[in-house]
Amino acid sequence: MRFSRSLVPTLREAPREAEIVSHRLMLRAGLIRQQAAGIYSWLPLGLRVLRRIEQIVREEQNRAGATEILMPTIQSADLWRESGRYDAYGKEMLRIRDRHERDMLFGPTNEEMVTDIFRTYVKSYRDLPLNLYHIQWKFRDEVRPRFGVMRGREFLMKDAYSFDLDEAGARTAYNRMFVAYLRTFARLGVKAIPMRADTGPIGGDLSHEFIILADTGESAVFCHRDYLGFDIPPADFDFQDTAALQATVDRWTSLYAATEEMHEEAAYAAVPEADRLSARGIEVGHIFYFGTKYSAPMGATVTGPDGKEHQVHMGSYGIGPSRLVAAVIEAWHDDAGIKWPDAVAPFDATILNLRVGDAATNEACERLYRELGAAGREVLYDDRDERPGGKFATADLLGIPWQIIVGPKSLAEGNVELKRRQTGERETIPLEAVAARIA
Ligand code: ATP
Ligand code: MG
Ligand code: MG
Ligand code: MG
Repeated sequence: MRFSRSLVPTLREAPREAEIVSHRLMLRAGLIRQQAAGIYSWLPLGLRVLRRIEQIVREEQNRAGATEILMPTIQSADLWRESGRYDAYGKEMLRIRDRHERDMLFGPTNEEMVTDIFRTYVKSYRDLPLNLYHIQWKFRDEVRPRFGVMRGREFLMKDAYSFDLDEAGARTAYNRMFVAYLRTFARLGVKAIPMRADTGPIGGDLSHEFIILADTGESAVFCHRDYLGFDIPPADFDFQDTAALQATVDRWTSLYAATEEMHEEAAYAAVPEADRLSARGIEVGHIFYFGTKYSAPMGATVTGPDGKEHQVHMGSYGIGPSRLVAAVIEAWHDDAGIKWPDAVAPFDATILNLRVGDAATNEACERLYRELGAAGREVLYDDRDERPGGKFATADLLGIPWQIIVGPKSLAEGNVELKRRQTGERETIPLEAVAARIA
């Protein structure tokens, strides 16, 4: 992408309304534009990050055996009347009436709709287990939308729904998502700790929130420090291996970790003082087993091996990709700007042309841009006619992992300068060596 031909509206000053660093940086780096309270447009760089996060989430859902579908944003109120949630949901639900006076709504979540899909097509235990997910915009009319996309009203959610014959099957489905979440967040470059969460009227121990520790987090959390060093399950983890799934979940729930609502002073006091971590956290994922809460009222049943009808046991599993864009920035920034982890960066590299108009410098930049593109690297070419100081500052603000600095002086010796944004390390290398170095 050529900077001069794109839309990267960077700001020198942080707008005053932005209270937390990720919101400030998202506005300053030109990632998003607010359209109404809690409703945002995604500008080119922001959209690229969002798409990369979404893709990692998708890959890990697929790896764990879930199947992608796409349900609409607008739902009919009828399904919600069946489950009894239409009246119960309250003001967070955006209610709409169509021209035929039918009650519709902008979906805040999809349990009812997915249960309807399930009951229409699935009739036998032989078709289980089943896990259907989608990545779709949600709307919740939050009382206090704030912190940019961290708490939007319209936001992107990956929500998965599992269907099993019985509670034991549902537990395995839950464990699969638990492990998939550990892998997902690690790949995104953040440390998210599963913490015991409130299960509401269903009870039991099968609900965890995945929390990233950050001073700006909205929840108070309490956990054992050792979680920060725990190993992440590998890419070749066997999601069919029920025992391995349980063992992984057991290990990741063996130490204390709870959000404020579930916090127990006595249990926490048993953690050695040096290992206690009391901090703020951002909820980036939430997994939940809720048994027959929807299958019972909505008649989602299958024939079991015994020839009888069974209400299926369900769970739901959410991740917020749009919130994660902000959460990753909370974890990866410095005074100069964003420091994207490689896996989610909007571009792999940015070329800084320090003397636009100079024939040799232009030619070297164009060549690099073509070569890197041909090698499959995503590159932002800063071809604007601007002073070097401004370009350096912009590059640091945008946070692209590699900066390739091309100026007439080094170029006279056949060299360019490389800077790694994460560490600040610099090296001077021959122009021809760049493609191999950043591969
Ligand atoms: P919160 O406690 O922050 O209000 P929630 O518990 O209401 O979130 P869930 O219903 O568990 O959210 O939704 C699953 C995921 O969707 C959350 O873990 C979060 O990542 C994301 N999410 C929820 N609400 C928002 C929002 N208003 N803006 C952005 N992401 C959100
Ligand atoms: Mg909420
Ligand atoms: Mg919550
Ligand atoms: Mg939640």
